[in-house]
Amino acid sequence: MHRIVEFVGCTLIEGTGREPMENATLRIVDGRVAAVWQGPERPGDQREPANETLQMQGKTVMPGLIDAHCHISYGEGKTAEEVDVYGGAEWSAVRAVWNAQKVLQSGVTTFCDPGSTWNVAVTCRDAVNNGMFAGPRIFAAGRHIAADGGFADYFPTWLGMPVSAEGVLCPTAHEMRREVRRQVKNRVDLIKISGDSQAQDTRQDVGPCFSDEEMSCIVATAHDLGRKVTIHSRYAKTVAAAARAGVDWVIHASYMDTADIGLLLDKQIPICPTLTYTANIVQHGRDVGVDPNYIETKRRELDSLVETQRKAMESGIPLMAGSEAGFAVTPYGQWHARELELMVELLGMTPLQAITAGTHINAKAFGWDHEVGSLRPGRWADLLVLDGDPVSDIHVLGDPGRISAVYKGGVAVQRTMPMPSRRRMGHERSLTVSSMPLNR
Ligand SMILES: [Zn+2]
Repeated sequence: MHRIVEFVGCTLIEGTGREPMENATLRIVDGRVAAVWQGPERPGDQREPANETLQMQGKTVMPGLIDAHCHISYGEGKTAEEVDVYGGAEWSAVRAVWNAQKVLQSGVTTFCDPGSTWNVAVTCRDAVNNGMFAGPRIFAAGRHIAADGGFADYFPTWLGMPVSAEGVLCPTAHEMRREVRRQVKNRVDLIKISGDSQAQDTRQDVGPCFSDEEMSCIVATAHDLGRKVTIHSRYAKTVAAAARAGVDWVIHASYMDTADIGLLLDKQIPICPTLTYTANIVQHGRDVGVDPNYIETKRRELDSLVETQRKAMESGIPLMAGSEAGFAVTPYGQWHARELELMVELLGMTPLQAITAGTHINAKAFGWDHEVGSLRPGRWADLLVLDGDPVSDIHVLGDPGRISAVYKGGVAVQRTMPMPSRRRMGHERSLTVSSMPLNR
């Protein structure tokens, strides 16, 4: 006995970049898209009557958003200590499933977590898939593979990297290979490399903290085990090394050398520029206590990011939409669609291109495009019903009042207005022992 639902009379955005279809009918059978057609003429092979018919005149129906960059375990932390040390595994996991419902309610039906403290992203994915909690589909990484002095190696050498941290310190290629195998054993979908050297925060000409041999070792081991690889790489030499090693996509690429665009293009390696995180620090960093010097650094980075990503886009490199939700400047459920707005406002994409980046292109990078990311037959009916037309105004997607419904697998998502909120607990915070100014 099939469960058949039809959405009739909508404007339908497929997600692959095709122009919207007016007066469309979307037919869903057992939670997946069965057929899409225009006008009243029903295809001959879609005769079985629907159990439910929903009139959608004046509404736009499009695939649910996919956020390629959402750290569900970070708990909206303000500092490296809050993300890496405070909270504990049990608290982080419970908090993550609670936050995942907010992400789903905002219209994100799938996200990639490219780097988790503990193994929280995998646990959250499993808890959602198991039906225990409402949440998006999750493409989950474990802890970043990190090297001494690299990104994510935040603490002094005498402290090392705690077991709770977002990164795991792997001093040799042998240990990198072993960590990849352990993470695959622990059921990650994706391996994350912390590519940049921390020294590059001030010196943009420094290379990555991995040798070519080490990077290739991580990528080859992960690929042999059927897992994707992504890398945090803001700087030029890291991006080039990552492209040579054959990672599946590059995150940030803010200071990439545009002479290396051909390297990414040849291998069709997408970039996830993550404009939202950088733009939010520039615009709202002060409100959450970000150091003014760091805000200035991020302002320069944003300028470079816009310049490099415009060139990448014009050359034909696929751009993925990821917000980096999970920090204090990027709270869950509020900023996911902002990445699409910034792609339009800063990179000059058309809204339809930005929507494609936030749906099909992300799904394709994960290897999930046969499951999600478009409303083509066979895909899960993960979709948004909108009061308004995001192709003429991309801001519709970030306005909870204009999202009239969210569906996951053909089932309407329960949404609470306003979104659930909570107070932060003392044990989640960095300890401030003195906030008096030093010069009296
Ligand atoms: Zn990140």
